[in-house]
Amino acid sequence: MYKELIEKAYEVRESAYAPYSNFKVGAALLTKDDKIFTGCNVECASFGGTNCAERTALFKAISEGYREFKAIAVVGKKGVLTPPCGICRQVLNEFANDIDVVLDDNNKEKIIKLNELLPYSFGPNDL
Ligand SMILES: [Zn+2]
Repeated sequence: MYKELIEKAYEVRESAYAPYSNFKVGAALLTKDDKIFTGCNVECASFGGTNCAERTALFKAISEGYREFKAIAVVGKKGVLTPPCGICRQVLNEFANDIDVVLDDNNKEKIIKLNELLPYSFGPNDL
């Protein structure tokens, strides 16, 4: 269903800068009008400066003027599904509470709604 999105996530995973964890992650975010923004994780010697693939993709899209999304694909190591971390779930929730989160391990695919990954979330409507 999200074949191209998954392929783009694997492509951008190659750009990951992960010299400390060696855990490379790629993400591809699909906008409402079918444009794809990709992102990889970028680590930092000062670890707090590290940014995940999902937020890299989202921030690229937001900075280009896109605010509405349908899905995000996330891929990590072969054979292991890599769900978004808590911070990424929260930041994605800011813009797209109901998007499909597409996980792929090079063998099987799993699609989960973001609001299932972040139930009873705190978001823009709670302020
Ligand atoms: Zn994350």
